[in-house]
Amino acid sequence: MQSDRVNAATLRCCTSVRTRKDPHVVADPVRSAAALLTDARDVTLLAHVQPDADSLGSALALGIALRRRGAVVRVSFATPDSVPETLRPLDVLGLVVPPSEVPARPELLVACDAAEPSRLGSLRHLLDAAGTTVMIDHHRSNPGFGDVRVLDPHAEATVVLAHRVLRAMSVPLDPDVARCLYAGLVTDTRGFRTAGADAHRMAAELIEAGVDPEGLIRPIMDTHPFDWLAALGSVLARSVLEPAEAGGLGLVHTRVEARDVARFRTEEVDRIVDVIRTTAEAEVAVALKQVGDRRWSVSLRSKGAVDVAAAAGLVGGGGHSAAAGATLDGTADEVLDALRAALAPATAARAG
Ligand code: AMP
Ligand code: MN
Ligand code: MN
Repeated sequence: MQSDRVNAATLRCCTSVRTRKDPHVVADPVRSAAALLTDARDVTLLAHVQPDADSLGSALALGIALRRRGAVVRVSFATPDSVPETLRPLDVLGLVVPPSEVPARPELLVACDAAEPSRLGSLRHLLDAAGTTVMIDHHRSNPGFGDVRVLDPHAEATVVLAHRVLRAMSVPLDPDVARCLYAGLVTDTRGFRTAGADAHRMAAELIEAGVDPEGLIRPIMDTHPFDWLAALGSVLARSVLEPAEAGGLGLVHTRVEARDVARFRTEEVDRIVDVIRTTAEAEVAVALKQVGDRRWSVSLRSKGAVDVAAAAGLVGGGGHSAAAGATLDGTADEVLDALRAALAPATAARAG
C-alpha cells in the first residue's frame, strides 16, 4: 500500500534500538506505534502551536484512550496559553497541561500533526530529551523526525492515522474518543470535501460510536460573535485581486490587523482565508494575520493548480499542496512581495 511504501522508506523503530544514529527501518509504523503505546505507562502527547482540531483531536483521542487503560497521560502545546475555546469540550478528562507541567524528560513523547519539529514551538527540544518519540502526521512537507514515524501524506488528517493506531491497539471507540477524531476529520477535510472513501467509512464508524455531528461541529466551524460580522466586512473590503500573480492564475489577498487579531478568537481570524479563497478569478488566496509589530502569520490556499506548500517552503513555512502556512517578518507589503516571488516558481513547477 502507498502508506506503507512512504513509511517504510522513512521510518525508524525504537523498540529494539536506542540510538537514533543507528535506526532500524520497520515495515509497519502503525503497529510499532501501537505496541509502544500499549506498553506505555507514562505518555506525553503534543499538538502543534496554535492547535487546531486535527492536532489536538489526535492528541486527545490517543490520550483519552490511554488514560482509560490506566496510563499517566498529559497533552500539551507551546502556544497559546489556553486551549482554543471551541476545542475545550474535547478535553473531557482534563488532560491538557501547560508546558511548565510537562516532564523535562518524557518517557514516551507523541507529536501530532506537526509538519516539522519547529511546529512544536518551545516544546521541540523534548524530541531530543524524550526516551522515545513517535511522530504522527500527514503533511507532505514533513522531513521525517522522531523514532517511530507514522507519516502518510495520503491521509486526509492526522486523526485518520491516530484512528489506525487505536485500531492496531484494539481499543474500542468510546464517544469521547470518537468526538476528538471526528472533529479533526471534518475540519481538515473542509466538511468532507477532500475525504476519500476510507475517511467516510471512518466517519460512519465514529457516528456509530456516538458522535452527534451537528452538535459537535456547529460550535467549532459555524459559530461566531455578532461583532465579527462587521470586522469581517472590513477585512473583506480590504481584499485585493491581482490577476497577473501566481503565474497569471490570479492571487487574492487580505490582511487582519493586530487589533482585530487581538479582539477575536482564532476561530474567527483563521476562517478569513476560507472566505476569500472562494474568489472565482484567483487560483491562490492569501490571508495575512498580524501577530507582532512586524510579524505576520500567513495562510495560503490554492484550488489545485498551484502547490502552495512549495511556496510556503520557500519562505520558511510548509503544509499541504492546497493549504499551507508560514510566519514572516516585515511590513505587510514586504511580506506580500516575498509571497508573490515564492508563488511564481511554485506555479511554474506545477505547470511544468
Ligand atoms: P493554516 O493556514 O494555519 O490553517 O495552515 C494551513 C496548513 O499549513 C496546515 O496544515 C498547517 O499545519 C500548515 N502550516 C501552517 N503554518 C506552517 C508553518 N509555519 N510550517 C509548516 N506548516 C505550516
Ligand atoms: Mn494542523
Ligand atoms: Mn492536519
